[in-house]
Amino acid sequence: MRSFTPSPLHFLNDLPKPNDVCESPSSALVIYDSYHEQNSSFVKWLNLFGQSYSVQAGEDLKDILNFPNHVHKISEKISNKSRKALTVIAVGGGSVGDFAGFFASTYKRGVPLVHIPTTWLAAIDSAHGGKTALNIGGAKNQVGSFHFAEKIFICKNFFKTGFNQGQESSAPGVGELIKTALLAGSSLWTQLGSYSSLNLEAWWELLPKAIPVKYNIVSQDPFEDTSVRQVLNLGHSFGHILEKVFDWSHGECVLQGLYFCTAWSQHRGYLDLQLAKEIEHYLQNHSHKKTEVVSQKLSINEAKRLLLSDKKINKSQELDFVFLKKLGQPYVESVSVNSFMDELLRQGWLK
Ligand SMILES: [Zn+2]
Repeated sequence: MRSFTPSPLHFLNDLPKPNDVCESPSSALVIYDSYHEQNSSFVKWLNLFGQSYSVQAGEDLKDILNFPNHVHKISEKISNKSRKALTVIAVGGGSVGDFAGFFASTYKRGVPLVHIPTTWLAAIDSAHGGKTALNIGGAKNQVGSFHFAEKIFICKNFFKTGFNQGQESSAPGVGELIKTALLAGSSLWTQLGSYSSLNLEAWWELLPKAIPVKYNIVSQDPFEDTSVRQVLNLGHSFGHILEKVFDWSHGECVLQGLYFCTAWSQHRGYLDLQLAKEIEHYLQNHSHKKTEVVSQKLSINEAKRLLLSDKKINKSQELDFVFLKKLGQPYVESVSVNSFMDELLRQGWLK
């Protein structure tokens, strides 16, 4: 019987001490985003572990065709390590975590995994919940496993540099943060609304409250045996379509998907008009893309084709859509492809 315990979370300013990461750092393998090599204190820290393997973040890393080559190179590095002592430590964003997680779940039938997410999107979402995945061609996350991290460390210093690079560096995570607040209910939503900008300090205060919201949902259905985890898909049905058409971050597409969901929920009479307006106003403030969408729009055929290719669609061309009734009250209902298309048209997304 598969078991689940939420991964212990640690919030730190700096990188964790090697002995806090795992029992035997000399037998650990750090799989990390090569971007961090420019950070000299990270490189110093890396040398405290037995082995390291540098990767380039991105969808190429998740391509199943590239996986054997990586495994070959990694196993040459760690062939003399006993399976029992080996721990895989993933340092990076979502693609690095997915790759390292899948490697850890399959190498010698599974070795322990530790996540150190270094993007906001990974820190709030992908590092939690135990999902690992690789892509087949253009189809995302087709091969994967459930492999929960033994520990997760969120280190503030990684995010400082990101903020120095430009105001938008946290934008990819904002969609997931707002989604989490909508699922959580009024207290997190009110707190989120109290910040005029989502800067580093705001994120740092919100993360310890937002992450348990996901764990609360995941723990009710850790291996997706029921449909409880479906609510985490809030904003994603339409978000995934946008992600395939435009070159936007996942978080920005989710944000647009939340906009679509809010308007549809209100139109169907599930969501009160005043609350819908408040949510839309908040989403608009944090989106950089709305004007671009209005000028670009989606072609009807493309939108329909992408909708039909959604892996969640069933034989009768219906999919479970996550609506919102109130703050903290998502509501899953089966909708037909045609009604989805009608709503896209009504909201002005189609040309
Ligand atoms: Zn997402």
